[in-house]
Amino acid sequence: MAPGESTPEKTAPQPLYLVQRLVNSVDLETGEDELGSPPALHDWLVERGLLAAGEPVTEADLDRVRDVREGLRAVLLANNGLPFDDQKIERLDQAVSRADVRVRFRPGEDPKLVPDARGVDGAVARLMAIVAAAVQQGHWDRLKACPREECEWAFYDRSKNRSGRWCQMEVCGNLEKARAFRERRRAATA
Ligand SMILES: [Zn+2]
Repeated sequence: MAPGESTPEKTAPQPLYLVQRLVNSVDLETGEDELGSPPALHDWLVERGLLAAGEPVTEADLDRVRDVREGLRAVLLANNGLPFDDQKIERLDQAVSRADVRVRFRPGEDPKLVPDARGVDGAVARLMAIVAAAVQQGHWDRLKACPREECEWAFYDRSKNRSGRWCQMEVCGNLEKARAFRERRRAATA
């Protein structure tokens, strides 16, 4: 799947979609990456209202955002029942350590979590506040990553019992079934 959007039934509601969209900014199968350079990351974040146009983006920012992206993918795989990748989660934890959030109070509004950092750290903080809100609202575990190793595409599971497993049953589900079949046959003839 080329980096980008998902079909509507696999798309998370806003603002959680921003998190899904970050994870899907690279196609692991082809290596095509929307965040290929600091300027590309800058434009990607500005386009989504996560960064002010004048804010700089460095190589280190890009490394950090990629750690966030792959760490989130590891969490989404765990949401799909796969074991935690401790190393990736640790790097995620480190990458978000400067992305501070605070509670903001405004008359006539519910208190809410907002970024308390600038630049790319502020953008990451905004995404983390979205994750925290989704956890609290009880739909974080619907955001999953496809367990087919070459795919790991992020999708939103709208099924009633939250049992959705594949980004696309017709593609990854069938490829995995074929692989399992080949492996069983190999094991039987061995
Ligand atoms: Zn898939």
